[in-house]
Amino acid sequence: MSDKSYDGGCFCGAVQLTVTGEPAAMGYCHCESCRHWSAGPINAFTLWPPDAVKVTKGEDNIGSYAKTDNSHRKWCKSCGGHLFTEHPAMGLIDVYAAIIPNLPFAPTLHVFYEETVLRIHDGVVKHKDVPGAMGGSGTELSE
Ligand SMILES: [Zn+2]
Ligand SMILES: [Zn+2]
Repeated sequence: MSDKSYDGGCFCGAVQLTVTGEPAAMGYCHCESCRHWSAGPINAFTLWPPDAVKVTKGEDNIGSYAKTDNSHRKWCKSCGGHLFTEHPAMGLIDVYAAIIPNLPFAPTLHVFYEETVLRIHDGVVKHKDVPGAMGGSGTELSE
C-alpha cells in the first residue's frame, strides 16, 4: 500500500482535493445516470475509501445532489465542474479520473455496459452491471 498523494481540483480551481494511496478500483461507467449528469458518454471513475479523500480548499463551495441514496454527486458551485460522487452503500467515493490528472489511470473494468451508447474495444472486461463483489450480477458482456 503506497501513501503517494495526488492533487486534484475543479475546473476553476476554487475547490482542491488530495487523494492518498491506491484506489480500490478504476474503470469506466456507462450508466444512464453518469451520462445524463455529466453530459458525456462515459464516466472514468476511481474509487477510494472515504478517508483517502481530503478536500484541501473550498469545502464550503461544494454543491451536492442526490437523486438516489446511492449516489451523492458533488460539484463546484463557482464553475459547475464535477468533483466526485459519494456512494454510501458501497462505502467508497468516486473521484473522477479527469480531475486528478497525475494519477496513473489504469482501468480494469467497464460497468453498466448494458446501458452503453459508446462501445469501447479495449479488451477490458465489460460488466452488464457491476461485479458480484460490488453487489452486482457479475455478468460479463461482449464488447
Ligand atoms: Zn470551480
Ligand atoms: Zn454510472
